[in-house]
Amino acid sequence: MELISVMVPCFNEEESLPLFREEILHVMATMPEYAFEVIFADDGSGDGTLKLLREYAAADDRFRYVSFTRNFGKEAAMYALLQASRGDFVVYMDADLQDPPSLLPRMMALLKEKGCDSIGTRRSSRKGEPPIRSFFANVFYKMINRISNVRLVPAARDYRLMSRRMADSILSLCEYNRFSKGIFEWVGYETEWISYENVERSAGKTKFSFWKLFKYSLECIIAFSTAPLAIASVMGFVFCFAAFIGILVVIIRALLGVDSAFGWASMMCVILFVGGVLEFSIGILGGYLSKTYLESKRRPIYLSKETENDLKEKKDVRPEEKR
Ligand code: UDP
Ligand code: MG
Repeated sequence: MELISVMVPCFNEEESLPLFREEILHVMATMPEYAFEVIFADDGSGDGTLKLLREYAAADDRFRYVSFTRNFGKEAAMYALLQASRGDFVVYMDADLQDPPSLLPRMMALLKEKGCDSIGTRRSSRKGEPPIRSFFANVFYKMINRISNVRLVPAARDYRLMSRRMADSILSLCEYNRFSKGIFEWVGYETEWISYENVERSAGKTKFSFWKLFKYSLECIIAFSTAPLAIASVMGFVFCFAAFIGILVVIIRALLGVDSAFGWASMMCVILFVGGVLEFSIGILGGYLSKTYLESKRRPIYLSKETENDLKEKKDVRPEEKR
């Protein structure tokens, strides 16, 4: 029987988890032709998430978990989950039911029918999302698709079913600054897409503030495009050209005997403008340099303090303790 690994990143999800567990158990029951394992990554939650995960794992062998020493971010959780997975197929799902588990049978059927390696999901609308967030998301997708080699599908979610070989390809990319949506596209393989209406969070609050998303999008640009680095060279070239024209004008005016002192105000504007552009370019360089610095330290992507195996070990020693 083929095994499906359901992989769920969790950060303070004690309110959503009971609902998720109920729903995924229901879906698993509708797919008796497959074996399942459900792996949760506790991304340094400060609430009762870990306690729930321990309970689930103790009650049902198909439920597994890995718990981090602190919050490492959703990307780290996704990597850890993939490392822990043993399935012939793997699928990411958010804990808040915004990636409806009920779609899984359809995704699995489509994967088999098309013989492809991956089924991606995208929202057909961004209903229920703040308009400002949708606006910036659209701008971001247009921009990144123009300046980068990977094609990101707008409104794509991380909810994705993949074959083992695609999962292994993703694991072979062990970069520290991760952006999964880009990595999914970068590794290649044929992908079919399923659209569904946006679903609101089942319980709890979103963990992604606007600022966090903004930083995340900058990370993506740096990870998947070097175009910003070229901006500095292009601007340098444009300024050289402008300076050359300026020099010509000054020389010609001098030859004609016209005074070339245009005044302090215009001079200040030019100096400040060029200074600003230089700072901006250094900023871009700094962005790439800092990421290179972080990569070169080769720190682990996450640190785990506990998995379901620790639970089992505790159970095993208990009889000896009694003796
Ligand atoms: N998440 C995580 N670590 C984080 C932030 C989020 O593991 O640092 C998980 C979270 O528990 C959820 C998923 O990532 O299962 C998506 O997060 P959320 O629903 O808050 O994001 P949104 O759907 O609002 O974009
Ligand atoms: Mg969500």
